Amino acid sequence: MSERVVIYDTTLRDGAQTEGVLFSAEDKLDILKALDEFGVDFVEGGWPGTNPVDDWFFEKASSLELKRTKLVAFGSTRRSGIRPEEDQNLKDLVSCKADWCCIFGKAWDFQVQTALGIGLDENLDMVQDSIRFLVESGKHVMFDAEHFFDGYKSNSKYALNVLKAAQTGGAEWLILCDTNGGTLPSEISEAVEDALLSVEVPLGIHCHNDSDMATACSLTAVDSGCTMVQGTINGLGERCGNANLCTVIPNLVYKMGYEISDMDPKGLTELSRSIGETVNIPPRPDMPYVGVSAFAHKGGVHISAVNKDSRTYEHIEPSCVGNSRKILVSEMAGNASIVEKLRELGLECGDDTPDITEKIKEMESKGYQFEGADASFELLVKRLRGELKSKFTVEGFKILIDNRLGDTDTEASIKVLDSEGQLEQTAADGNGPVNALDKALRKSLLKFFPEINDMRLTDYKVRTLDEKSATAAGVRVLIRSTDGKRSWTTVGVSENVVGASLIALVDAIEYKLMIG
Ligand SMILES: [Zn+2]
Repeated sequence: MSERVVIYDTTLRDGAQTEGVLFSAEDKLDILKALDEFGVDFVEGGWPGTNPVDDWFFEKASSLELKRTKLVAFGSTRRSGIRPEEDQNLKDLVSCKADWCCIFGKAWDFQVQTALGIGLDENLDMVQDSIRFLVESGKHVMFDAEHFFDGYKSNSKYALNVLKAAQTGGAEWLILCDTNGGTLPSEISEAVEDALLSVEVPLGIHCHNDSDMATACSLTAVDSGCTMVQGTINGLGERCGNANLCTVIPNLVYKMGYEISDMDPKGLTELSRSIGETVNIPPRPDMPYVGVSAFAHKGGVHISAVNKDSRTYEHIEPSCVGNSRKILVSEMAGNASIVEKLRELGLECGDDTPDITEKIKEMESKGYQFEGADASFELLVKRLRGELKSKFTVEGFKILIDNRLGDTDTEASIKVLDSEGQLEQTAADGNGPVNALDKALRKSLLKFFPEINDMRLTDYKVRTLDEKSATAAGVRVLIRSTDGKRSWTTVGVSENVVGASLIALVDAIEYKLMIG
């Protein structure tokens, strides 16, 4: 029987340290739900007490019914010179509703003496009594041994003593961290094997990618006896990121034969892309397994060989991770993914699929991307098939931005025609041009369509398009809307942000009118 490896995701905590990533509390909930849906064992949600977003998140998350995932709150050992019960960070962990916590402490003598400026024995006490305090408060505790591998190189006896102190305190998991990301796989095995001989509780591995070795080191650690891997989706994380679970998981399952409970690696590509959309950092196209180019074939010889047998140029079947083969400069691949999308949305796949594919390609060349905007995709298909008639048309709009003494007022006025040709002209003030336009548009439509009253925007994202990849360079706007029961995402592309927003707003309302 193959051994089971526990997967621990820290996208919401380590991933939040990525340059350019700023999670809203709603983003965090969405990511938690996606990770639970996928089935990861543990999700580290954040650091309670350090910011309002994390506090709100833990409060909300505690009322979610998670199917598989256990939520973990992160924190540190107590400060020196005080008792654990006096430490605010530990108290915040106790009052946080998550049953599990993971606290970090130093495992490198140099860090203890230089960064903390305290004695080596005091650090051991801090590790042990902080964990004991949390355990006695009813928590399940994991311990992140920070800089374990650097510590092991510098003073292996001390690094192992830190693990023993955490075990004595009552930790249920000990996580060996390569915090600076400078360790090579060849250095991992000995340290892990030594740790296994020193403690009885199970070990985990947490690697950063500063030497581009995070995945390799994580896999080596598992082969050496660690039974938990910590990492992030798309390898998000500070500096060069963390071990990428989108690579770690398929390697564990397909290459090394480990078990990962109920997680189906076929969901990885979707997970990678949806989290990429949420954080507004699209996964790198060349990302192994899940990247859009991971199975893209261009050279003529390669294509003909792949068509004979995909094993000629592919290390695994793309469908094993939910990805698809892309034959560049050929139409077959696009068509297949459109067929897949139509099925996914419950739409019929008819003889017109090639026409839809052609249209999508044309729009993609203008900068559209339907990966994260199913509602716009569905509208597009229905419009092409003549199944959907626009219920209104925007005849024109004007935006006035008035800046006086530093105060900016924005007013939008808009002309809308309903399907019977009635003209409605409305104006509204807003907090910026897009907000004003949204308000004016709804105000004008509310008379014809009262059902849009319960609809609101929950997220708004703008991405500047790369001139090389889009013929009409400009911006892409993604808008997520909800009516309280459902949520949907629409997309617009234009040379400017207001134009792109209007297209996405119109689609958002059309979609609501369609679903009722
Ligand atoms: Zn980390």
